[in-house]
Amino acid sequence: MIVDAATDAPTDAPTDAPADAPADAPTDAATDAPTDAPADAPADAPTDAPADAPTDAPTDAPADAPTDAPPDAGTGCLTTPSAPIAQFSVAGEIGALVPTKVSSEPLAEVSPTREMWPTWITLAAVAPAEVEQRILLIASTANEPSFLAAGSALARIGVPFATLIATQETLVADRLRTATGGCRFSGVILANSEIGAFDANEWQRLDDFELACDVREVEWFARAASAIGLTAQPPFASNVTVPALLTAGGATRFPYLRASAPVELRDVYGYPGHVIDPAVTTPLLQTAAGDALAVVHTRPDGRQVLALLFDSSPLSRHAMLLEFGVIDWVSRGLFLGARRLYLTPQIDDVFISADLWGPGNATYRTDAASVQFFADWQGEAAARLPTGSTFVTQLAFNGVGTDPTQYPDTAPITAWRARQNEFVWINHTWNHENLDGLSAAQTQQEIALDCTLAASWGLEGFTCATMVTPDVSGLDTTGSLAGITAAGVRVVVSDTSITAALNPDNPGTNPSFNVGRANPWHPELYQVPRHPTNVFYNCSTPEQNVNQFNFLYHDEFGRDLTYDETVALEADVALRYLLSYDVDPLMFHQANLRMFTGADLAPHSLYADWIDALIDRYTAQVTLPVWTLRLEDIAGVMQDRGAYDACQIRAVKIAGATGSHLELTSAAVCVAPITGLNAPASGRVEVYGGVPTTFVPLPACQTVSIPIP
Ligand SMILES: [Zn+2]
Repeated sequence: MIVDAATDAPTDAPTDAPADAPADAPTDAATDAPTDAPADAPADAPTDAPADAPTDAPTDAPADAPTDAPPDAGTGCLTTPSAPIAQFSVAGEIGALVPTKVSSEPLAEVSPTREMWPTWITLAAVAPAEVEQRILLIASTANEPSFLAAGSALARIGVPFATLIATQETLVADRLRTATGGCRFSGVILANSEIGAFDANEWQRLDDFELACDVREVEWFARAASAIGLTAQPPFASNVTVPALLTAGGATRFPYLRASAPVELRDVYGYPGHVIDPAVTTPLLQTAAGDALAVVHTRPDGRQVLALLFDSSPLSRHAMLLEFGVIDWVSRGLFLGARRLYLTPQIDDVFISADLWGPGNATYRTDAASVQFFADWQGEAAARLPTGSTFVTQLAFNGVGTDPTQYPDTAPITAWRARQNEFVWINHTWNHENLDGLSAAQTQQEIALDCTLAASWGLEGFTCATMVTPDVSGLDTTGSLAGITAAGVRVVVSDTSITAALNPDNPGTNPSFNVGRANPWHPELYQVPRHPTNVFYNCSTPEQNVNQFNFLYHDEFGRDLTYDETVALEADVALRYLLSYDVDPLMFHQANLRMFTGADLAPHSLYADWIDALIDRYTAQVTLPVWTLRLEDIAGVMQDRGAYDACQIRAVKIAGATGSHLELTSAAVCVAPITGLNAPASGRVEVYGGVPTTFVPLPACQTVSIPIP
């Protein structure tokens, strides 16, 4: 039992030819195959990059779970270091296909040591004077899936929080209040309702704190009990899928969800209940039979608790759907951090051809009919996304494909030019030479030739400052790096399947959530990690892709999958990226654009099928806009996030006679995103999903005071 005071945690036809319909058509089309609980697995197959592309194998259980830093371990001016943020492991690398469960377990029953009915019942009549805007996350051990789910959610959104592991630390009063009575936290999250390591005194301290500081509590995984206004009903086990229906209260609490669409609870245990008194207990989610699955309950002393009556893991889709509404609630609608949903697919090798998977020496280069289908389809896909979405495909092109002496068929180029303004264009070099073997001058020329073409054609969104290097090459060799930077390139992509084990000096992964890397030898060059997908660069038809898929993954599944199954599997993974606010772009190739006729006799492409399956799932459930960002803007988001994590911004809400204000302190020059705050006088205001975020610029080590309107 270490008793330290204020500490913190971690911190793509009828091609022109008569396509053949999908071979192993949709028989047992496992629509929603693997679940969301799974962790991860194999990797990302052959990108056009490294041959033996390996996995990024995420762990399901963050080894680097939170550790409490000693007090005053903060950077310079911050004596109570805040934010943990970056260290919490997030929903792993997707591209990962085979489920490894993050197992849900039944909730242990512990003898109740928490007294819920204090005899001295009084309401917190006066707002507390000082409340640090930070969450206290309490768990019995650091291993509960629900603890990891809550921590991952807070970390991805960027909400400062501290952790208290009850088996390792006694909850003392100093942990909760300052010497002058200030409140160290603005909300409490219990990983589950049964913190067995707490004794009656610790529960009393927590209850006293919540009452005095007017702090709300979340039980991320709770058992139905009278303490939260419920009588227990028969529980369910992790082998059943339970649809959770939004009540009127749920539709209000989770306004970004389609109220008519059930949230499916999969692979988890649950403890539904009956509401005892609707005056004090409001269900947010319920079973088809009307049993509560999530409630907000007001205790006799006025304190409020939001309880989720089911487990979740960091990879649970249901948790990702609900987390923002829960965190918004416990924070009373005002908190450091922000969420945005991103989808940035990039198609490499546009204009040139690829050798195809399978016997023979077949090649494919996107033909004119496929280009037209692609552009038409994209317009329809974008229109299906919620209002405010900015979906557009980015095209990494090789100028050599426009040279008729090398590519005599000019019809595709004519087709691309007719629709060029409907896409965003990126430099992929003129000849697609692997840059590792080129000199600086050769590299620079490869880049410059594409720049010249883009300028003369007026390609939309093109800038010489960004590129996708061929085969993601050239990021570790002296000559190529000198040429890339001399050409004025400042942002490139890396490949998330190139882990530290494969390239210790310069891995292609995100060092932390939504953060990229400066190139180790040329720090002025920023590397944006990009996810490979299981739509392979050398595949243009379902037959090819599913054949290669099964070649790679048969052993993992113990059988061959159908094309439809692979599409479903990928869509689940893609949805997880989207719902987890992941900003990394996604990798596809020009062969994936080949138009073919599907079993439904309609035109398809591997790429369109992949994106369509994602959009179907997403729009069925969520109404938030989906943003596509240009490469330079993704780099900006990543650099901002890296700085934000390092700044450990501390925000304290001060209640005054004439209104409240926020006192903000940052360890370095930084920008604080404050969600729920609409204060244009204090910074740029951006509204997303109906919720304002004010981006407040902060100097280093000076407290900035801003009024809360
Ligand atoms: Zn390429």
